[in-house]
Amino acid sequence: MTAAMYDLMDFDEVLEKFDPVMGLEVHVELHTETKMFSGSGTNFGADPNSNVDPVCLGLPGALPVVNAKGVEWAIKIGLALNCKIAESSRFARKNYFYPDQPKNYQISQYDEPIAYDGYLDIELDDGTPWRVEIERAHMEEDTAKLTHIGGTSGRISGATKSLVDVNRAGIPLIEIVTKPIEGAGERAPEVARAYVSALRDLVKTLGVSDARMDQGSMRVDSNLSLRRVGTTEFGTRTETKNINSLRSVEQAVRFEMQRQARVLEDGGVIDQETRHYQEDGSTKKGRPKETAEDYRYFNDPDLPPVFAPAEWVEEIRTTLPELPWIRRARIQKDWQLSDAEMRDLVNAGALDLIIETVEAGSTPDEARAWWVSYITAKANEAGVELDAVGITPRQIAQVISLVGAGKLTTKLARQAVDGVIAGEGDVAEVIAARGLEVVRDDGAIEAAVDEALAANPDIVEKYRAGNTKVTGAIVGAVMKATRGKADPQQVNKLIAEKLA
Ligand code: ADP
Ligand code: MG
Repeated sequence: MTAAMYDLMDFDEVLEKFDPVMGLEVHVELHTETKMFSGSGTNFGADPNSNVDPVCLGLPGALPVVNAKGVEWAIKIGLALNCKIAESSRFARKNYFYPDQPKNYQISQYDEPIAYDGYLDIELDDGTPWRVEIERAHMEEDTAKLTHIGGTSGRISGATKSLVDVNRAGIPLIEIVTKPIEGAGERAPEVARAYVSALRDLVKTLGVSDARMDQGSMRVDSNLSLRRVGTTEFGTRTETKNINSLRSVEQAVRFEMQRQARVLEDGGVIDQETRHYQEDGSTKKGRPKETAEDYRYFNDPDLPPVFAPAEWVEEIRTTLPELPWIRRARIQKDWQLSDAEMRDLVNAGALDLIIETVEAGSTPDEARAWWVSYITAKANEAGVELDAVGITPRQIAQVISLVGAGKLTTKLARQAVDGVIAGEGDVAEVIAARGLEVVRDDGAIEAAVDEALAANPDIVEKYRAGNTKVTGAIVGAVMKATRGKADPQQVNKLIAEKLA
């Protein structure tokens, strides 16, 4: 993406002239066993149109029944976001005609959401605290998934056919909407990313969603407007959709700031519209934004109000797990990490993975070493987040334990990790298939040591003169001869014995 291609204002100039106002709408799919208003399953990746029933297919006469677990989990999210929980809330019909919703309305909540007026305290990259105020967190149902084929882009324009998969329709969604975020200035893109990241951690910790942005179980719309520095009235906002990674959240905000500033500076107006995030980091005009009136909201007559008496809410509060920020403080203390070290782990998205690796039996130092160096490098190479590299904490813990037991050298361990990432199977399978075990045959190693000593008389001489640190070249030669499969400790021991 270049400024010239898209007619963007330089970021620093934007900040001299304008002040960004931002609003984030995050949809989280709950992984309840059944749908929000009917009994069919919710598993991701099931055959298309296999998780369906009369309610989510919108068949005449079918009646919705509220999933109590869905309500409980909505309350959980609300409590963790410091929201007030409405004792009585209602479902409403959001009416529109589109093939992603067989009933022609989506069940949502409108003027009576279950949770409202909360906040989430987050930390920016350098540790600066930031409070994001939450307007509401409401319950709704997901829509069917449309796949457009026949075109080149996978989008509807240019497609010749569209396929409808109703599996997703009716899966419980919680939509979490922030109040307008003001005053972030140059840090607006960073605040957006840090907020979504914190929210993702939170719902994962609550155990209510796997919050995978790449699989659509967490979806972000980012609203942005600009106002002239020194003014208070909000400008017209655009709403960017299709943002599928943390990096894209940040980029979408940055791009809209630069794009809108150029339009405004040139005397143009911003249209209230939805825009689509593009893989090159830009946003593209979508449809003009509907207003609430367009949807003809009204209370769903098929569904009674949802009652959440205070005793139930308090009972749910007692089931909240240790929340991420509290856990973070505890881990930092237990592992004796500095603020900066801790921040690096969190920013790299490595903390949970390291914790899971430790839970699977590794020490914090070993687990950290693997995730922040080798696996992070692999993630960067592939351009994916750490948890999408293709290796699990359990597998890393296995590799670490094999190294500890002397069955793999660090070098062989990396090859085992490479194999797992490449999809060659589990750790043991990769080791067997690639023949990665450390050579235990003392005879073969001893022969290689003898050979290396004979080939390096100068080193032997230095060693005997008292410089015992010169054995690196010998170890290297033995490693080469055994194709990296000798245990360096054993080799060092043999060298010491022979030169004693
Ligand atoms: P809609 O359903 O129309 O998208 P929502 O209320 O669900 O409206 O969400 C709008 C989001 O945009 C909220 O986070 C809100 O705080 C934010 N927002 C509202 N007005 C503006 C504005 N002028 N500029 C930036 N963000 C705004
Ligand atoms: Mg909205």
